Amino acid sequence: MAMNHKGPFGPAQPKFSELLAQPEVSARWEKVRKYFFLRESTYDMSNRCNIRCDGCYYFEGDKQFARETGDAEAWRGLMQAEKARGITYVVLAGAEPSLVPELLKVCYQEMPLGSIATNGFKKIPESVRYKIHISVWGNDETSVRVRKAKHLLKKQVENYKRDPRAVFVYTFTRENIDEVNEVAEVLVSDGCKLTFNVFSSPVGYTGPLRHENESLRRTKQKMIRLLNQYPQNILFSVYNAVAHTHQRGLHDLYGCSYPRQNPSQDIGLGRSFRQYRTDLNWDRSVACCVPDTDCDDCRHYAAGSAVVTARLYRHANNLVSFKSWLDYVDTYLAVWVMDYEKGENLCAEEIEPPPAGVK
Ligand code: SF4
Ligand code: SF4
Repeated sequence: MAMNHKGPFGPAQPKFSELLAQPEVSARWEKVRKYFFLRESTYDMSNRCNIRCDGCYYFEGDKQFARETGDAEAWRGLMQAEKARGITYVVLAGAEPSLVPELLKVCYQEMPLGSIATNGFKKIPESVRYKIHISVWGNDETSVRVRKAKHLLKKQVENYKRDPRAVFVYTFTRENIDEVNEVAEVLVSDGCKLTFNVFSSPVGYTGPLRHENESLRRTKQKMIRLLNQYPQNILFSVYNAVAHTHQRGLHDLYGCSYPRQNPSQDIGLGRSFRQYRTDLNWDRSVACCVPDTDCDDCRHYAAGSAVVTARLYRHANNLVSFKSWLDYVDTYLAVWVMDYEKGENLCAEEIEPPPAGVK
């Protein structure tokens, strides 16, 4: 979710002024470029969760065994140190961050921009004005089966309807594609904002949630149809749908910039990004926003917000491509930044993601 990997634009592009000739394009460029200062890291706040989902990447690998740090002053010190090394945006995740509200308050006091990934069962205090991403994996029947949680959507909506912090994140698995209609209807009728994620398998996962080409194709169609149906409530764009449902994963398409896939320690995310565990340690060799996810199957919304956004160069060789990229960035800012309002999408055309080397 950082767009400052190389500075926003770098060396002069001969056609850039032509790309900005249309007033709505230049206005959107001016709107998004104000946020190029964002520089993220992520933090596991708790190693516990109040539900247990199939295919949860947190409970893969050894990060789940890190000791929890309940000392609020230790977290305050970490946030201050993070600020000092240039971090401007925090993603608080877990397992389940809502179980440690006092730590969330401390983080917010020190670092004003950020987001929290939660299952939405327990409401996070309103004084913590971060974006709150509430994970939805299907209707209530599916939640009982896959997440062992009863009446989850009802509870999530009760907690977060009309809350300007809240964005509901519907994760498309291979099994829940059609259920999104009823979930979207419920959320829209309660005035909630919704965005989309694509299930990305943890390393070694071969279960029924993992996508195949046909389920990716159907997911894309569904995303675009719903986006057209509920443009006021759904924070997404056609290019988001294309990028996240492509047969090739995000790393293959765009080249992931997180340290785990990026040996460079000199620039951008490779230099600045850290993924702290609950014991406040981090390990560069495994650091990314969705650790223990299978890179070949990675289509995660959090990953895309960094890797697609960082590829401005590739999208600047024609207007349709540039508009698609602007829609993507506008979407990601609306999903991740408090008080950022999404604009109308500029491009309804499905483009093929430009390959590396396109200038
Ligand atoms: S709610 Fe999140 S952290 Fe908890 S088990 Fe499910 S996916 Fe994992
Ligand atoms: S899982 Fe995704 S975000 Fe993480 S390193 Fe792999 S491709 Fe990058």
